[in-house]
Amino acid sequence: MAERLEHFIGGQHRSPSNGAWFPSTNPATLETLYEAARGDRADVRSAVDAAYQTFHSPEWSRTTPSQRGRLLRRLGDVIGEHAEELARLESLDNGKLYREMKGQLATLPEYLYYYGGLADKVQGAQIPTNSPEVLNFTQREPLGVVGAITPWNSPLTLTVSKLAPALAAGNTLVIKPSEYTSRTILRLGELADEAGFPAGVVNVVTGFGAEAGDALVNDPRLAKISFTGSTRTGSAIASSAAARFIGCTLELGGKSPNIVFEDADVSNAAMGVIAGIFAAGGQTCIAGSRVLAHRSIYDELVERVTERASSIVIGDPMDDATELGPLAFEDQLAKVSSYVDIGKEEGATVRYGGRAPEVDLPGYFFSPTVLTEANNDMRICREEIFGPVAAIMPFDTEDEALRLANDTEYGLAAGVWTSNLQRAMRMSQRLDAGTVWLNTYRAMSPMSPREGFKQSGVGVEHGLESMNEYTRLKSIWINTDEGPVADPFVMRS
Ligand code: NAD
Repeated sequence: MAERLEHFIGGQHRSPSNGAWFPSTNPATLETLYEAARGDRADVRSAVDAAYQTFHSPEWSRTTPSQRGRLLRRLGDVIGEHAEELARLESLDNGKLYREMKGQLATLPEYLYYYGGLADKVQGAQIPTNSPEVLNFTQREPLGVVGAITPWNSPLTLTVSKLAPALAAGNTLVIKPSEYTSRTILRLGELADEAGFPAGVVNVVTGFGAEAGDALVNDPRLAKISFTGSTRTGSAIASSAAARFIGCTLELGGKSPNIVFEDADVSNAAMGVIAGIFAAGGQTCIAGSRVLAHRSIYDELVERVTERASSIVIGDPMDDATELGPLAFEDQLAKVSSYVDIGKEEGATVRYGGRAPEVDLPGYFFSPTVLTEANNDMRICREEIFGPVAAIMPFDTEDEALRLANDTEYGLAAGVWTSNLQRAMRMSQRLDAGTVWLNTYRAMSPMSPREGFKQSGVGVEHGLESMNEYTRLKSIWINTDEGPVADPFVMRS
């Protein structure tokens, strides 16, 4: 029988209250890896109980900012000590390359060190007043219990991006990881315990979105929801949060343009296109899924991208020689494959791929796929495919490239390849995307704030600004005059 993983609530492992479990499958081998607790409303209630009580307990509410900083830095060290284990567990669970996971784990402690350093820099300000006897200052306070709901494509990094600022600010957390990737997030809860965070500060309830996720979003004691996932789910979560007037940070989908001008180094740009859409099998929110190529270099770019795509090594994600692993689960494979059919029906040409490759493993593999003769009205250019499928289309002028790039309901990221500095700057100013990469793609750091524009999100993750997402601002007025109140009917300022 497969190993069973219980919830992590109040510093303890807890069986599901309804006795229900669900399997998690290795997408490369189709072996069942483990069964996770299928959380329901009662489990979520227990987790929020633990988080709520801990938030109000002296043990957590009286930790000093410096102590929280030290705890976060310690957690960074503990994650570093378990880097190999975490990289392996996440690769097995979602099919990400072990090589890529080792890279992610090498930088993940930096997220904890960065926010550990910010914990004692959360501060308000002294505000001027027009009455000499009246002082006014602001302070930033933690919110309370934060609900973090995360997807399967980069579970650890996306969860730590929420956990670190939330804990630096003094909140407590209930995390609901994706039903496809429970394991490393449960380990994260255990490692927070090992690092010395009081029991109940980090709680993890596993299960499905419609069950555990929905229960968490609707728990009345939740002070904030921080969500990363699809735009559809984000919209439903935003409605629930709005109905209760609680804040939510949303990191959602994308359909990012990767634009190659005629003056670019086409060889580098082709590698940027490959990195944008085939790294992580295109299963990233920032995937450069729409490739816009100037007509004069269109054929050369298509040629180079196709050539490299055809030599991509597909196979076991645990093998360091592999460049493309499986898609994360069966429905994902069906979805990606169906979009290639839609593209063909819409008139795009499958220049490479578009089918299951020959691989020695039974998993959910799909070839890197290059679709040409695409245009921006096609569904393959408007809807998020979330797989290794590049749609390449030509343009003639900079204005046309800009119009096509911005003609999307998303606004997450964009890439521009050019050797013309003025053009690069013009494009970066005019692109309607929260992140713009010039002559690079997929760069990211905990220090750099990022925001999704339009339907790609609400609020900021990473950077100094993200601390505001996990604090509330209080304005405090002090009257230093002990004399009688002159006129109770006149407001003081
Ligand atoms: P998803 O929306 O299906 O699920 C995300 C999480 O929400 C999961 O934990 C799921 O169980 C939960 N959930 C689902 N329905 C829910 C509900 N009704 N109430 C509460 N929780 C619910 O997304 P996914 O398929 O896991 O992830 C892929 C999506 O995430 C893509 O659209 C991708 O672009 C997006 N994403 C965005 C970013 C970003 O930074 N903008 C990063 C990574 C992924």
